[in-house]
Amino acid sequence: MKLRFAPSPSGLLHIANARIALLNYLEARKKKASLILRIEDTDVARSAEENEKQIIEDLKWLGIVFDKYYRQQERLNLYREKAELLIKSHKAYRCFCGKHKLKELKEKAIKQGIAYRYPGFCRNISDTQSQDRANKEAYVVRMRIDEPVILEDIHRGKIRFDAGELDDFIILREDKTATYNFACAIDDMDMEIDEVIRGEDHITNTARQIAVFNALNKIPPVYIHIPIMLDENRKKISKRAGGNSIKELREKGILPEAIISYLASLGREKEFSVEELVENFSIERISKSNPVFDFHRLLLINESFIKTIDDALLLKHLAEFEPRLSEQQLGYVPVFRNNARDLAELIQMIDEFIDFHPEKLQEDEKETLRLFVKLLKDNDFSESISKLAEQTGKRGKAIYHPIRIALAGKEKGPSLADIVAVFGKENTIKRLSEAL
Ligand code: GLU
Repeated sequence: MKLRFAPSPSGLLHIANARIALLNYLEARKKKASLILRIEDTDVARSAEENEKQIIEDLKWLGIVFDKYYRQQERLNLYREKAELLIKSHKAYRCFCGKHKLKELKEKAIKQGIAYRYPGFCRNISDTQSQDRANKEAYVVRMRIDEPVILEDIHRGKIRFDAGELDDFIILREDKTATYNFACAIDDMDMEIDEVIRGEDHITNTARQIAVFNALNKIPPVYIHIPIMLDENRKKISKRAGGNSIKELREKGILPEAIISYLASLGREKEFSVEELVENFSIERISKSNPVFDFHRLLLINESFIKTIDDALLLKHLAEFEPRLSEQQLGYVPVFRNNARDLAELIQMIDEFIDFHPEKLQEDEKETLRLFVKLLKDNDFSESISKLAEQTGKRGKAIYHPIRIALAGKEKGPSLADIVAVFGKENTIKRLSEAL
């Protein structure tokens, strides 16, 4: 069995695309199917190589792995051959109308508020005439759609599309590159894809793709159209608008585990294994309503992952996030990881601590701190705290507050004992003394 994820490199991979990729990945693992990554780049004007590279990099970073990789740019001959075949069997025809001639008709239709359909001027040109003109004139190739198409979607049930609705759509452009619908259908056929999981925004595309399958007497794959994830304004997440791309989330210091956990809607914020995800996965159970991307919830999950993932894994992510971290900075990771929502914040907290210089404390607090510094010279941290409590009769905040403010400048943060364990007794005494 085979599945595929087929991004177009017209923009970066965003959170909604990543969700579709993940669903395909989990379904493939669940059904022990192989998973193909197919870059749909036949629309040269809208495809960029940097995007393609970044998409591949982002998927790898998320841990979504593929068994095979294709680029449609490298398969253009196949699409041309199939288009020729369709012309020969009269399922497709050359259209010589040109954009110019049709533009007026399109504009007229828009003015009248009706859907534009190709009027079929070139439908009945004879084979010899068509061949003749093809040698001299520019042309596109259109499907000849006479029959309705029935889509049987696993999620949405049966949907019927009348021939008129589908229009005689273009399959090859004037420059002989295949349009998205044609390349996609031919590839799904050629790669023997069994199941297509994609956003429900593709439903009308699917009808056209089924028409291609029908014209070539092939059985289309099973289609599962998933309600797409929307942004916080309940709008479709755009490839061009910033903020929701995997690259940007990564640059903010979100962990891939947090993204996967969020997208898989685990409702849990602890480590999980892919096996666990696969075991509990069922494509039929995916919600029938559109999920809305909630960055705040992702951040909460991220915070929890930063606290709980394996040390080595956290260090690996940090090294990728900021390769120039010093030994000293890395030494503070165990101390500050419990308080950071993302990796950028974690590094910032560490840096703020390292660079911190305390201001002088109030007189009464100075007194407590002075005694503490004295005790710390001959005792370890916890002994010094106990003795300080004994000798001053103070407890809790009254003794911790001056130490915390002098050491780190903040009311809240990691445990003082943890900070001192890494900072060292001598450095601690030095810094505390600055506040006296
Ligand atoms: N290339 C299409 C896109 O990026 C997806 C096509 C598909 O999954 O069939 O939206």
